[in-house]
Amino acid sequence: MNSHAANDLQFTIYDSRLSMTSFYVTTPIYYANSLPHLGHLYTMIVVDTVARSKRQRGIDTLFLTGTDEHGINIERAAERNKRTPKEQADYVVSYFKKMTAEFGLDTEHGGFDIFMRTTEPFHYEGVSELWRRIASSKTPKGNDPIYKGHYEGWFCAPCAEYKTEDEYQKPTVEGAPPTCLVHETPLDRVSEDGYFFRLSDYDEELLRLYETRPDFVRPESRRNEVISFVRGGLQDLSVSRLKSSVSWGVPVPGDPEHTMYVWFEALTNYATAIGFGNEQQDRQFGFEKYWPAQHFVGKDILRFHAVYWPAFLLAAGVEVPRGVFAHGMWLDPTGRKMSKTLGNTIELDVLNRHFSIDAVRYFCLREMVFGQDGRFGYESLIDRVNSDLASGLGNLLSRTLAMVTKYCDGRIPTGQIPEEKILLAKRTGVDTDETTIAGFIELARDQFLQQLDNFAFSRALEIAWSIVARMDKMITDAKPWELAKDENQKQTLDTVLYRAAESLRWLSVMLYPVMPQTTTQMWTHLGLHGSPADVNPLQLKWGGLEAGSQITEVKALFPRIEKAKLLGEIGSPAPEMTRATEADAVPGRFSDQTKPAPPMTHATEADAVGVTNFIEIGDFAKVDLRVGQVLTAERVPKSDKLLLLQIDLGEDKPRQILAGIAEYYAPEKMLGRKVVIVANLKPRKLRGYESQGMVVAASYGEEGKPVIATFDEDVPNGARLK
Ligand SMILES: [Zn+2]
Repeated sequence: MNSHAANDLQFTIYDSRLSMTSFYVTTPIYYANSLPHLGHLYTMIVVDTVARSKRQRGIDTLFLTGTDEHGINIERAAERNKRTPKEQADYVVSYFKKMTAEFGLDTEHGGFDIFMRTTEPFHYEGVSELWRRIASSKTPKGNDPIYKGHYEGWFCAPCAEYKTEDEYQKPTVEGAPPTCLVHETPLDRVSEDGYFFRLSDYDEELLRLYETRPDFVRPESRRNEVISFVRGGLQDLSVSRLKSSVSWGVPVPGDPEHTMYVWFEALTNYATAIGFGNEQQDRQFGFEKYWPAQHFVGKDILRFHAVYWPAFLLAAGVEVPRGVFAHGMWLDPTGRKMSKTLGNTIELDVLNRHFSIDAVRYFCLREMVFGQDGRFGYESLIDRVNSDLASGLGNLLSRTLAMVTKYCDGRIPTGQIPEEKILLAKRTGVDTDETTIAGFIELARDQFLQQLDNFAFSRALEIAWSIVARMDKMITDAKPWELAKDENQKQTLDTVLYRAAESLRWLSVMLYPVMPQTTTQMWTHLGLHGSPADVNPLQLKWGGLEAGSQITEVKALFPRIEKAKLLGEIGSPAPEMTRATEADAVPGRFSDQTKPAPPMTHATEADAVGVTNFIEIGDFAKVDLRVGQVLTAERVPKSDKLLLLQIDLGEDKPRQILAGIAEYYAPEKMLGRKVVIVANLKPRKLRGYESQGMVVAASYGEEGKPVIATFDEDVPNGARLK
C-alpha cells in the first residue's frame, strides 16, 4: 500500500497567495548537549514572528520548538557531568525554557505551542510507526528501503554524522583517528552490523521534488547546493547502532539489540509531536490538520532536512514538508565567525539585561538579509535602537501624541477638511486629498506582507520604515506648531495629526509580529481597545481610527541608549561564567555557529567606546614585553583556535602560554620561533590550561588573521622591549 512508482507521486504545490486555514512551523529541535546561544535565539525569533503573523491573519497556526535528547553525544555529556542522560537533557531543557521565558517566546507570552522532547513515550511510538511503514514498503526502484548490512567507517559524535574521506582531516600521527573538519575532535571508529536506509534509490524522486516545487528549499543558493549534492550520487544511510555501543536511543522495532540513528529519530519529531503514529498528540493537535510543516533551520543542518527527511517521508508514503528554509549565521561586526577564543560572541544574558526584547527582535530581523550571513555586534545593535527605534518609530509616536495632547486636548482629531476650508488648507502645502496618503499606506502594507510571507524580513521592515519616513516628512513640512497659531487652519492641523496617528495605528498592526510588546503599547497609547494581535492587517482601512478617542499618557517606547556608557557596562565581567564553561565542554550539533560569550576583552571594549586618548610613558612601562622562544607547541584538544606553547623567557622554567592562532599557525611552524610576550599579564585559565602571558600578534583583514611579531636580528630570550 505504501509502495508507489516514481511516476504516480504528486507533490502538493503550496502557494502563499492561496488561502490557507492552518499552518505549522518549526525551529530545529536543539541538541540537548549544549546550552542555548544566539543561534538558537535567532531561529526562535524568526519562527515566532512567522507564527504571529499567520495567527494575526486568522490562520490556525502551530509553532514547534524543542530538544533532541538521544545519542552518544548526550550519553557522553551526561557521563562527564555525572548525570544520567535524562538528567542531562532536563538540565539543558531548563536553560532553553529560561531563554524562551526571558525573551517572550514561550506559550505564556504567545510564542511556541509545543516544546517537543524526543524522550517522550509518544515519540517512541510514532518513530517506531514510521520505521515500520518504511520497512514494509518498496523503494521507487522496487527494493526494500531498509536492509541489514555491515557498517565500517568514521563517526563524529558531536555532528552525529558518519564522515566520508573528504569530510575529515587525516591524522598527522600514524594510528591516530582522523578528526572532524567541523569540530576538530577525533572521530569514532564504527564497525558493526546494522540497518541501512536505501537512500540511493530516492535520488530521482528527490530531484523531481526540487524541480516541481522550486520553493521547497530556500534560499535559491542553498537549493542549488542541495540539488548538486543529490546529483552527485546518494549513499545509503546507516540508520541504527548496536545497543551495546549506543544505548541512549529508540529501539529498532522488532530488533531491540539495535537503536535508531539519532537523526532518523530526531527529524521524525516534527511529525510525532502533532500525532503521527500516536493517539495522544493526535487528539491534542491533529496530524492530518497541521501536516506538512514549514521548517526553519541553520544552513549547517540543511542536508538532513532537505534530503534525508523528505526521503524518509517519501519511503513511508507520508507527505513531504511544505518547505525548508535555511538561514545564515551571525558573524561578528568585522565578519569573523563568533568564537570564545576570539571573545567576540554575543551573550544572551547581556542582551536580556541591557536591551528590550523587541529591540533584539527588530535588530535580528532587520540586520540579517534572511538566508545570508549577518553581523551582530553590541555597537550596531545600539545604533539601530537609537536610529530606527528611538529616533524613528518611537519619536514619531511621541511627537504625534504630544501634539495631540497639546493642540487637541488629548483626543484624536478628525481627519477631514471641510469643503470651505480646502482652498485655505492648500495654501499651507498640505495635501488636501487624503486618498494620496491612503493609497501610499495601502501599497506599503501590501508590499510589507508580501515580503513577510516570503520571509524577507529585512526588506519588509525597510518598507514599514518608509511609512515612518513619510510621516516624519509630512509633519516637518506642515509645521503644526505654525498651523496652531492660525485659528482658520485648525482643521488643517487636525488633519495632519490625524494622518500621523492613523499611520501609527497601521504600523502597530503591521509590526505586531516583529515587536509584539511595543506595538501593543502603541495601540494603547493611541487610545485603542483590544490588541493589534487580533487585527488582520489585510482588513485595515484608512480612516479606521475614530476621532474623539482619548489617547493615554505618552512614554518613550525606546529610550535612547547612551552608547559609550552601555558599551562600558557590557564590557564588565558577566556574573555567570559557569554557563559558558559547561556549554563549551561539548560542541553542539544544531546550529553550532555561536557559543555563549565570555566578557568582551579590554581591547575590544576600548575600541568600541572609541577611546583615542594618549597614555603616559609610565602607562606603557607597566606592560612588561619580553622576547621569548617557543620550545614546544601543540593543539589544544577540542579547540580549533588554540595552540598550547612552552616558551623560554630566560627564566628558571619555561612559561605555558595559550595563543589563539591555531587556524593560521601549525604547531610545527612555531617551534624555535622568537616571539614577543606580554610577560606580566595576569595568568588566566583557558580550556583548563593556565596561560601565563600573551603572544603579541598583529591582526588584519576581515577574519582578523593573526601575524606574530618577531625579529630580524638575533635577540636573547628574556630581553625587554621598551
Ligand atoms: Zn563533527
